[in-house]
Amino acid sequence: MTSELGTEGHPLRVAIIGSGPAGFYTAAHLLKQSDVHVQVDMFDRLPTPFGLVRFGVAPDHQKIKNVTRVFDRIAQQDTFRYFGDVEVGKDISLGELGQHFHQVCFATGAETDRRMEIPGEDLTRSHTATEFVAWFNGHPDYRDHQFDFSAERVAVVGVGNVAVDVARILCRTPDELAQTDIADHALEALSQSKVREITMLGRRGALQAAFTNPEVRELGELVGADINVAPEDVRLDPLSQAELDGTDDDTLQKKMAILEDFAERSREGKERLLTLRFLVSPTELIAGEDGGVRAMRIVRNELVSDGGKLRPRATEQTEELPVDMVFRSVGYRGLPMEGLPFHESWGVIPNEAGRVTDPETGQPVRGMYVSGWIKRGPSGVIGTNKKDGTETAGFMLEDAASSSVLDPANTDPSALEALVRERQPHVVNYADWSRLDELEQSRGEASGRPRVKFTSRAEMRAALDAT
Ligand code: NAP
Repeated sequence: MTSELGTEGHPLRVAIIGSGPAGFYTAAHLLKQSDVHVQVDMFDRLPTPFGLVRFGVAPDHQKIKNVTRVFDRIAQQDTFRYFGDVEVGKDISLGELGQHFHQVCFATGAETDRRMEIPGEDLTRSHTATEFVAWFNGHPDYRDHQFDFSAERVAVVGVGNVAVDVARILCRTPDELAQTDIADHALEALSQSKVREITMLGRRGALQAAFTNPEVRELGELVGADINVAPEDVRLDPLSQAELDGTDDDTLQKKMAILEDFAERSREGKERLLTLRFLVSPTELIAGEDGGVRAMRIVRNELVSDGGKLRPRATEQTEELPVDMVFRSVGYRGLPMEGLPFHESWGVIPNEAGRVTDPETGQPVRGMYVSGWIKRGPSGVIGTNKKDGTETAGFMLEDAASSSVLDPANTDPSALEALVRERQPHVVNYADWSRLDELEQSRGEASGRPRVKFTSRAEMRAALDAT
């Protein structure tokens, strides 16, 4: 029977778990094959699709979200179905998926944060970037989080692009925010914000900062905040200077030019002050009388060469930085999936170019694949997932061609749908999502915003029931 796999009468049935860019790009490559018939069913534990495009990309970076038009086109194909608000591992098990699909691909991203592992990390007013970003983007699981914007001084730990997003959103004026699709609750809270000083902290030097040039340049163009970098923070130590001299990568030269320009600027008297600091690490968060963050102890670092990489090493020099609120933005981590191996220290599902592998034998786990951040770790931009998803899909097709697939008992698409509906009567399909999408956009039109998001399942269900 499997010899005809991929024909019209016996299509390759694939489940993709996660509807972010990695999931969609994997689906795109599978569905564009002219010689193999593939049916993709995509599952997401949230009602709405697009993962980090909806819940990660900052609301003031609206253009980046246009990529959803590409995903829309993929979803319009009649060989694609979407099952939103269905959690694999809870509503339906991996074993059950194996009864309905030849292959299962996990594109579940990196859902949690790495920790700093310092005393005081869990004090009141110490938050993860994930919480804040998900909250201002209207993620249903985070809408009730509370952030105390009566805080005047905020530290953002980390100098990656997520830290930049966090700092920039804290600096935006109410007028700027009101033109975006930021969640209404966040618009209201941030419009009352008393935050005046935001300090971003990089544990290594300016040259090693993880942010990309367009993103850091934008920090010098903010209407509501002056940028501040101390000249000594952009003066390179000999190891970094040697690194810069020895590379022909002009993005590093440009990065330094941007930061040197910031260091030469004087304050213009804007409402907020955004400071970038380098070669410092938090060692402790200190509580005030109310039990919340009052200060952060930081240590000055120096760079040491370790196997060709420049790493931070603490010096004796410490300082107490007065801050009332902290956002930790030190990278994301993937979460394990029941029934699949997991690489604890890397936070990914072990794999070889997308084929899940058993860490004990090193052999592929039949029918199981990964794509995106759960495959390679939390790095790269949205477009990186195109190459990544295409790679995984290529191996899925290769394995299907050699019949190295699962052996599902029931490949009738309607049987799977019936099972899902039995488990989750509120399942959201793509037509439902398209209606929600239109409603959100029309709610936004009235106030000149790209959309006004639904931020709870109850709101979404009510809206769908009413149409
Ligand atoms: P990231 O780029 O890996 O940056 C993480 C930052 O945390 C780095 O500065 C890292 O420093 C620092 N860090 C890690 N552990 C630390 C510790 N214990 N103490 C202090 N600092 C620590 O991760 P991200 O910002 O979460 O972004 C994830 C991915 O999404 C990246 O590829 C990013 O470019 C992408 N993204 C892109 C955009 C955009 O294009 N606009 C927006 C958001 C996110 P070290 O370098 O020293 O490790």
